[in-house]
Amino acid sequence: MFDYLSEQPIADGCRVLVPFGPRTLLGIVIGQVERSDIQQTKLKPIQEVLDHQPVLDATQLTLCRWLSQYYQHPLGEALQTALPVALRKGEQATPKEITWLRLTEQGEAADDNAFGRAKKQQQLWHAMFDGEVSQSTLTASFSRTVIDGLIKKGLIETFEQAPKLNLNWTREMVLATRPVASVEQAVAISALHQRQQGFSCSLLEGVTGSGKTEVYLQAIEPILQAGRQVLILVPEIGLTPQTVARFRHRFGIEIGVLHSNLTDNERLAVWQQAREGALGIIIGTRSAIFTPMAKPGMIIVDEEHDNSYKQQDGLRYHARDLAVMRAREEHIPLLLGTATPSLESLNNALSGRYLHFQLHQRAGSAVHTRQQVLDIRNQRLQFGLANAMIERMEWHLRQGNQVMLFVNRRGYAPALICHQCGHVEECRRCERSYTLHHQQQRLQCHHCGSSKGVPHTCHDCGASQWMTSGVGTEQLEKGLSELFPHYASVRIDSDSARGKTKLQDLLDKVNRNQYQLLIGTQILSKGHHFPHVTLVVILDVDGALYSGDFRAAEHLCQLVTQLAGRAGRAEKAGEMWLQTHHPEHPLLQDLVHNGYAHFARHCLMERKHAGLPPYSYQVLVRAEAPQAQHGFEFLYQARQLLMQTAGIQAIGPLPALMEKRQGRYRMQLVLQSQQRRHLQQALQRVLPELENLPLARKVRWSVDVDPQDFS
Ligand code: ADP
Ligand code: ZN
Repeated sequence: MFDYLSEQPIADGCRVLVPFGPRTLLGIVIGQVERSDIQQTKLKPIQEVLDHQPVLDATQLTLCRWLSQYYQHPLGEALQTALPVALRKGEQATPKEITWLRLTEQGEAADDNAFGRAKKQQQLWHAMFDGEVSQSTLTASFSRTVIDGLIKKGLIETFEQAPKLNLNWTREMVLATRPVASVEQAVAISALHQRQQGFSCSLLEGVTGSGKTEVYLQAIEPILQAGRQVLILVPEIGLTPQTVARFRHRFGIEIGVLHSNLTDNERLAVWQQAREGALGIIIGTRSAIFTPMAKPGMIIVDEEHDNSYKQQDGLRYHARDLAVMRAREEHIPLLLGTATPSLESLNNALSGRYLHFQLHQRAGSAVHTRQQVLDIRNQRLQFGLANAMIERMEWHLRQGNQVMLFVNRRGYAPALICHQCGHVEECRRCERSYTLHHQQQRLQCHHCGSSKGVPHTCHDCGASQWMTSGVGTEQLEKGLSELFPHYASVRIDSDSARGKTKLQDLLDKVNRNQYQLLIGTQILSKGHHFPHVTLVVILDVDGALYSGDFRAAEHLCQLVTQLAGRAGRAEKAGEMWLQTHHPEHPLLQDLVHNGYAHFARHCLMERKHAGLPPYSYQVLVRAEAPQAQHGFEFLYQARQLLMQTAGIQAIGPLPALMEKRQGRYRMQLVLQSQQRRHLQQALQRVLPELENLPLARKVRWSVDVDPQDFS
């Protein structure tokens, strides 16, 4: 915070240009004072006021103050985070023209025969009858290839136009027919209808496919009809075509979409439309939580357990938690939905702080995927698969169904070993084995991103015979083509699915049955449905059973449950197998026999006994330095200072799970307390002192409040 002079009053939340040393910087006005602590003669005047109307309203300023205080981060960065990039760069708050798409005359006259087997093109063509649509919204729903295909056929065309500031959307709303809600859905919907005004927080816990989205759709109906706006958060890669298209179709209004593939200007356009109240529904990923709304009505956080809501660097905020603050500040309801609630939210629901709705049945006649454990002790594994598993796969494939395999690692193999002497090729900067990427013939470090060619000979003994250890997606893909030469397989991971449209294309092909075998990582567990998949195999769950991270079990069970939920549909009951060396592990048994809901409640009890979150609060102080000793000593001193506040426990300093990365040793200090207040007080007192420690200049350090990731 810095003081500057101004002749006339400037509203809080306006951007200004100010002199800062020899430079000119962008600043945001956060308040006015009659007199400054700085001498009048030393105060410099503001050079220019960029906005007539504040870019951050009172609510946002309050939220930024909260962010700054809660996450122990400079207010300036919180304000920056809340603004779209274009505004951070000092551009005008009025967006330039954006690209739109509309039907051509030829398109309006076309009929369903024009598409042959191009089902996606046909879907897009149908969707275009909902009205002209911005390219940024459309690309969230349809791949570039499909859009370009229709343009080439002359059925749709692009045009440039400023974003519309349509304040009439409420009147233009056309409700499509909706299914009759099930009893469980109806309970949630009517409870939410009764709580349209004022702050409340609800957890909607419903198995995948149980109709959570349908609850959202019906719950927001009266809110939209009253002219109030709804903000919906979705996970990073869970923003599926179906989601946006469904909301658009149900209400027949424009939807503002904020995803990672937008230009700065497109982002600004949605921001402005939302701020003016010209958008009824805004759907976006983590940072969309900052979207201003003229008439806020409700916030929904879909898949609230998802880790992408937590920012992992800089200002490490959690969008779900910020959503709670925002809903409170705006006096509106917040709805959290998921099949696999985070233990934090579940605890809030079970203790009565949140309303709690449960959907136990899948909508329609769809049945649950059966989960089983496969003991692989002493079994011969081919490409990580036990023989019994391979036979089972064969059976499903012969029925004409698809099989999905989940592996946690990209690449061919997580380690390259010299067969002669056992030397393992390691990234020197991270002291971890390189992952072999066979296609590119390269060794890649998955921790720092560095890579090199595969050496001809062993660095230690000079032999030239390499072995690999472990199985990655690439190897499994190759293996499957040997094991099942008559079936096509596809690999879906961040290597094969670069760029958003590529992923969409791959998924479309899967659902058109072009592939029978799907190999994938985490990506497969988010938002997409695979109706033809009847068998899901998780190759190796053991890593998560014995992990240094106390949330590993929770995350494993969320993953397993999400994957199971993606498979199968009404006529095709699915099964899922977890390969493990620990078949009688109580956690696996609980999950498999009793389901996530039961597991989660059990896990909560364990956390309670252990005094772990959500029954206590944590702050993680990280320190990295080229010399391990520096990080350790810095954290040790930090610990001494912090422990002067009562009610705080400290664990560490200890090396991080990932001890070294990019040539830096990584140390951690975990602070824990029964009361948030104690941690906040301690940090507020100590952080300025830490900044002044001589060692603070030798280490790179950061503070993570409510840490999720201990790697
Ligand atoms: P979730 O969001 O929990 O995964 P969805 O809302 O997407 O579930 O519902 C799954 C499927 O069931 C969708 O195709 C949806 O249209 C359908 N569906 C949801 N609720 C009902 C209902 N009450 N009656 C009939 N079909 C429904
Ligand atoms: Zn590395």
